[in-house]
Amino acid sequence: MASIFSKIIAGEIPCYKIAEDENFLAFLDINPVAKGHTLVVPKKEVDYIFDMEDQLLSEMMVFAKRVGLAIQKVIPCNRIGISVIGLEVPHAHIHLMPINNLHDMSFEKSRLDFSPDQYHDIAAEISGQFK
Ligand code: 5GP
Repeated sequence: MASIFSKIIAGEIPCYKIAEDENFLAFLDINPVAKGHTLVVPKKEVDYIFDMEDQLLSEMMVFAKRVGLAIQKVIPCNRIGISVIGLEVPHAHIHLMPINNLHDMSFEKSRLDFSPDQYHDIAAEISGQFK
């Protein structure tokens, strides 16, 4: 069965899209730990990130860098934290989170909630900075 992220990639489930190329898609996490929390996923469905082919994995990190720099232009923060968990969705993905301190990286924090309009505006602003 296709993963939820494959359904998003196929356009069967909506997302707040940040950026896309032939191999990757970046979109806002629907249960964000921080404003601008973004997921970068390969279009080719692979569960475990370390099962990805080396070339594609390298390219995903470079794509994530471009997305992270765009987030940083929109959301005031010290850094963009990068993490890989993968315990919930069996489709490789990188979390990009604006952070100011170690606690901001915690997935145990209560998640934020935004209105559809707010998610839309955040995604549009970040997308506008993607180069
Ligand atoms: P992980 O697999 O890395 O533990 O967590 C998966 C992440 O994907 C979570 O932060 C969760 O909020 C996010 N997520 C799960 N389902 C969806 C979805 O349908 N759409 C979006 N945009 N994010 C999702």
